[in-house]
Amino acid sequence: MNIKNNLNNLRQNLSPACKLIAVSKTKPVEKIMEAYQEGHRLFGENKVQELVPKYEALPKDIEWHMIGHLQSNKVKHIASFISMIHSVDSVKLLEEINKQGQRSNRTISCLLQVHIAEEESKFGFSGDEIIQFIQSDGPAPLKNVKVCGLMGMATLTENGEQIRREFSGLKKLFDKLKSAALPNSVEMKELSIGMSGDYKIAIEEGSTMIRVGSAIFGGR
Ligand SMILES: *Cc1c(COP(=O)(O)O)cnc(C)c1O
Repeated sequence: MNIKNNLNNLRQNLSPACKLIAVSKTKPVEKIMEAYQEGHRLFGENKVQELVPKYEALPKDIEWHMIGHLQSNKVKHIASFISMIHSVDSVKLLEEINKQGQRSNRTISCLLQVHIAEEESKFGFSGDEIIQFIQSDGPAPLKNVKVCGLMGMATLTENGEQIRREFSGLKKLFDKLKSAALPNSVEMKELSIGMSGDYKIAIEEGSTMIRVGSAIFGGR
């Protein structure tokens, strides 16, 4: 795997409206440094116990994105440095992020994870739950979090039409919320959809952040 070439090929095909989160989970710090040396600064991890030592070992101008399921009791380990948490899948978790943000004297950027896959999934809000939560001003008392948008994962399938349907459903929800009168604590700016296997479809459907691992660093 040539990390440099993979990264530069991906970047060349991205419009400035879409950010690339390089997903470095399971990969050693040396591999992350190869991407860093190409000027890359946005990295994503899915486990707190892996993210913290990488944060400690690597340059401090890296922006770390938490993309995996996050347990409430682990938020305290990342609250002081995390740039964005994509995988907020419950109100309870958002409340804990707020509490830890307050302790670190920070406002933590969060995306609400929406369950879009037609297959069963354990994590994420339904579209209706998101609408209800936002329209009832649920995030407003949480001064140390900023809801910046939505995140979703399509079904793991070869069926491109299904993936497109799932992404476009999320984009519709995103646009609907965006055009509604949003409370001040919410901004619909980022739509985090697309991984190595489906980022091209995600970009066509309006992604502003793709999360790509194996297409940069190789298989896991
Ligand atoms: C692992 C992971 C990715 C990246 O997956 P690839 O298929 O390697 O690009 C993206 N998003 C989440 C939530 C992940 O856990």
